[in-house]
Amino acid sequence: MSFSQLDQLYRRVIMDHYKNPRNKGTIDADGKLTVNMNNPTCGDRVELHMIVEDNKIKDAKFLGEGCSISLSSASMMTEAIKGLTVEEALHMSELFSRMVQGKDYHEEGVDFGDIGALQGVAKFPARIKCATLPWKAMEKLFLNERNAD
Ligand code: ZN
Repeated sequence: MSFSQLDQLYRRVIMDHYKNPRNKGTIDADGKLTVNMNNPTCGDRVELHMIVEDNKIKDAKFLGEGCSISLSSASMMTEAIKGLTVEEALHMSELFSRMVQGKDYHEEGVDFGDIGALQGVAKFPARIKCATLPWKAMEKLFLNERNAD
């Protein structure tokens, strides 16, 4: 596959998540955790809702507004982190940061699935904060929870 074909494929995956977001909505259940985060440089906003039980992410949903990069990233992330432990999700966030900075992020046993479609963001440094917004929101949510204990 040529680079431009790959770019087109990635663009299609991103637009699919943007137009048909997975896990869009709120969670109304006891013990849900929520967090809000903004990316003022682009006007992106994301509100993350999660259920974490026994250190595992049972459910994740989001609401948001902004560009296709931030919202498709939120859709992909909520899909990827369900069923992971908090540590696994944080590690994935670390690898994601590496990916959008153009660094090596491949690791055995970590399946990025659709998330890999965002690797082209590395070519557009101004968009890195759009891509990492939902991941940073997740990190903040875990941090808030830890501080509340
Ligand atoms: Zn953005």
